Amino acid sequence: MTDPLGTLRTIERRPLAHLPTPLEPLARLGEALKGSRSVPKILVKRDDCTGLGLGGNKTRKLEFLMADALALGADTVITTGGIQSNHVRQTAAAAARLGLACELVLTRVVPWGGPDYELTGNIQLDRLFGAKVHLHDAETDRADAMETLAETLRAAGKTPYMIPTGGSNAIGALGYAAAAEELAAQADRQDARIAAVVHASSSGGTQAGLTAGFAALDPAVRVIGIDVDAHPAEVAGEVRRLAGEVWNRLGLPGGFPHDKVILQSGYAGQAYGLPTEAMRDAVQRTARLEGLLLDPVYSGKAMAGLIGLIEAGEFAPEDTVVFLHTGGAPALFPYRTALED
Ligand SMILES: *Cc1c(COP(=O)(O)O)cnc(C)c1O
Repeated sequence: MTDPLGTLRTIERRPLAHLPTPLEPLARLGEALKGSRSVPKILVKRDDCTGLGLGGNKTRKLEFLMADALALGADTVITTGGIQSNHVRQTAAAAARLGLACELVLTRVVPWGGPDYELTGNIQLDRLFGAKVHLHDAETDRADAMETLAETLRAAGKTPYMIPTGGSNAIGALGYAAAAEELAAQADRQDARIAAVVHASSSGGTQAGLTAGFAALDPAVRVIGIDVDAHPAEVAGEVRRLAGEVWNRLGLPGGFPHDKVILQSGYAGQAYGLPTEAMRDAVQRTARLEGLLLDPVYSGKAMAGLIGLIEAGEFAPEDTVVFLHTGGAPALFPYRTALED
């Protein structure tokens, strides 16, 4: 097949992101790791620079999700996440941009509190984008709470559209099949052969889209998700399920090859959203060597994972490894105390 992902271009998509995002070297970080047995060439794919409301990986998913919402005549978008959800913040920005109302079911899932956590960073921006915030305790079932809210809105004559945690369903994950195509073309133009793409994986849509996309385009590329949830088996299961759905929607032949899903554990720490020493070290090193901002919940733990894999001799010196920067820097402020020297 010359255009294996051609079906993507027949699916409704609302432009929201600045694309393509840059693909840049992380030369000084690579140099600093040279004590390790074998250091690959490291590139960073700047999906922290997707442009909408401080950017991040959810904007690619929202291009497909918001197109679906508009096609269904929605006037209100409902989504859900933790108090410092980057997905929720990007959804609130997308809704504002498209003139839709936005209602948010936020749960206190992370045992990390204080005024910085509950008032600054992403939640501050949700409110600035005009979204209505509904705060719930950690035990609340997010799908149930969204459905209850949708019922209330329907009774008031509204047409709500629900987006699950992380925008991770088959529609949202298409955004990362498209990203695989963008990245493969960019690497070609830079004469780089990608051995692996490494990124933080949580609700699974990013890894599902990327893994399905590369399995169709260039099966030699390994997509390595770093578990940040401390539930690697559940995350891997969700990635396989979503990648299978993406594969079928794109009309790809056979079934999605489930053995393509690689989920690396060992870097999440105790729980989702709780800081680790390795995360703090990765965030500080990347800031000080590259002037590049990672985040405490996702990309900092993912970079700790990449550094750990390099130190374990996972890659050859002639390999090119792409770190997919999924964003999240707004959470640096609520987590201020976790990042001090
Ligand atoms: C949501 C998010 C991820 C994880 O992406 P999933 O598609 O949920 O697996 C990674 N990094 C950041 C910064 C995020 O906000």
